[in-house]
Amino acid sequence: MAFIGSHVSVAGGLWLAIERGEALNCEAIQIFTKNQLQWKASPLPLHVCERFYRSYRESSIHSIVAHASYLINIAAPDGIWEKSIQALKDELERCEQLGIDALVLHPGSHRGEGTERGIATAVCALRRVLSETEGQRTKILLETMSGQGDALGTTLQELERLIDGCGAHRRLGICLDTCHLFAAGMELRTVDSYRRLVDAVERRLGLDRVGCWHLNDSREPRGSRKDRHSNLGEGELGLVPFSCIVNDIRWEQTPCLLETPKADDGDLKNLALLRKMRGW
Ligand SMILES: [Zn+2]
Ligand SMILES: [Zn+2]
Repeated sequence: MAFIGSHVSVAGGLWLAIERGEALNCEAIQIFTKNQLQWKASPLPLHVCERFYRSYRESSIHSIVAHASYLINIAAPDGIWEKSIQALKDELERCEQLGIDALVLHPGSHRGEGTERGIATAVCALRRVLSETEGQRTKILLETMSGQGDALGTTLQELERLIDGCGAHRRLGICLDTCHLFAAGMELRTVDSYRRLVDAVERRLGLDRVGCWHLNDSREPRGSRKDRHSNLGEGELGLVPFSCIVNDIRWEQTPCLLETPKADDGDLKNLALLRKMRGW
């Protein structure tokens, strides 16, 4: 049940992420395919793609998800918009070359223009990217956001509007981040509230749209709109939502990925906890 794993570093070579994931016994991993804080990246040489793909195929990892650069803002009211479209297309191309099925993307920030304008701008960008990358396989997973600044995607309704605006394109999905959902105001700390969330996802978007979960506890209280991840069970969320997710048969093939602090063997401890909870 659930492909448990973590975000791992690609330092020293993309294929090393797979070794790191295996060393942690990850069933799924998340990576950046380029420096997440820079616009430009040199194209991937063929030998790197081949080495990555071979390592992936020979590993015990079932699924790899990429996370797009934090600089991309498809809802930007200025020149960053066009730059973001090109960068997103480049990220999708890299995923395609590496055999990665899904790319997590922050839905963007309207920068004071208002949610309506922001959604319209983001939809326009997504439609263009999807049409200009027609024939590719990699899905774009719009991530739920905590509500910091003018971020879009703080409610399921906003994600629904973004996806509907693109004609419910088959290459669009969502990534549910527990810390972000909770910081944005959603209750998640009980079995009942978890069920209500999943029911709402099913009703609004359909469970097939859920491409991955990000399993993060939250250092800040519910509704704080602050995005600060903490180790599982050490934050305001507690362990209940994580136990619900890893035991839910509906996520049997879904990557459930940690983005928790790495210090003091953080990954080892959080992964051990998730494995222990699976089967509770
Ligand atoms: Zn993210
Ligand atoms: Zn996340």
